[in-house]
Amino acid sequence: MNKDLSLYVHIPFCVRKCLYCDFLSFSANEEVMKAYFKALSKELKESAKDYSDSMVKTVFFGGGTPSFPNANYICSILSDIKDNYNLAADAEISLELNPGTASFDKLKKYKEAGFNRLSIGVQSFDDDELKRIGRIHDCATAQRTYEDARKAGFTNINLDVMSALPGQSLESYLNTLKKAVSLDPEHISAYSLIVEEGTPFFDMDLDLPGEEEDRAMYHKTAEKLQDFGYHRYEISNYAKDGFECEHNKVYWKRGNYLGVGLGAASMVDDVRWTNTGKIDDYIAYFSGDSSFAGIRENVEKLTLEDRMEEFMFLGLRLITGVDLAEFEALFGKKIEDVYAEVIGKYVGMGLLRRFVEEKTCREHLCLTTQGLDVSNTVMADFIIHIENSIE
Ligand code: SF4
Repeated sequence: MNKDLSLYVHIPFCVRKCLYCDFLSFSANEEVMKAYFKALSKELKESAKDYSDSMVKTVFFGGGTPSFPNANYICSILSDIKDNYNLAADAEISLELNPGTASFDKLKKYKEAGFNRLSIGVQSFDDDELKRIGRIHDCATAQRTYEDARKAGFTNINLDVMSALPGQSLESYLNTLKKAVSLDPEHISAYSLIVEEGTPFFDMDLDLPGEEEDRAMYHKTAEKLQDFGYHRYEISNYAKDGFECEHNKVYWKRGNYLGVGLGAASMVDDVRWTNTGKIDDYIAYFSGDSSFAGIRENVEKLTLEDRMEEFMFLGLRLITGVDLAEFEALFGKKIEDVYAEVIGKYVGMGLLRRFVEEKTCREHLCLTTQGLDVSNTVMADFIIHIENSIE
């Protein structure tokens, strides 16, 4: 096998839409789900021939709520992957699930089918906050789901938590973090709410925490989780040693990934594309409707500049930042030949720093703690700069 590949499988179904959600997700009846899984199975099988020389190192079932449909559909898709791709014996195989949709029986089925990592969308351990953001579960259900997952044999679990929620105080957020840590998961993802256009929240008058409180939540996240033995390895992600999410690291390191299912994004050998987001078209195409030429949209071969930009703004999300020798090996230029000005500016401001990584003895460039606070501004400058500097 000469290439590594990651697989992302999109399950777009949810019980109902949360008020802040801008993901490709919706509720659907059994008939639609059945047709969708049939199409998904076909897509997986048809795509497999293009990846016969690849070894699948990670698989991630995301959504939507993959734990909402009947577990047999999900397990049968995983078995299609096993039958049609070269799946590494130690592959990380993750499933996203939401409390209120995952019974103990389902969890046992997932484990037996081969899933070895769960990501649970807890978001908050405050019932009022959960209600205000439109989640279907309460704290007791979240805790039960977590305990059931342990009983079912899962030893690698992520909990998602959110800050900057309507009506959330620093105190209630810290309670959520405390509760999450007390459950002792291997990984915690902590995101701030972003009110996106097109979501119900966008048109609502929300009682959001002020900027100062928002910042305090952000800083306390890093402080508290590190105190409890979770190292921060990406802007929003924390893990115990040995439990970083290998699948997400592939995105940040620009590895090859194939996305299957509705609206799924792929990048293989520097070509990007997205599957159609229209479920009727997706199902029709795989049912043999010849009026569709294909389901892939926005196919784009990335230019050298695109790749350099991505290498920088994705790599800087990682706490260890970007490897300078890797930049040179990939692009045939030293990083300073392209980014001297922007690197000089931010190193001078104390937002970026160079360091030699102990394990590899290789020089890296990464955001400082202060730089992580304004990461979006720094990363955006890497894009603007390159647009101005490369002809
Ligand atoms: S569960 Fe997740 S994907 Fe589904 S509506 Fe809520 S936020 Fe969106």
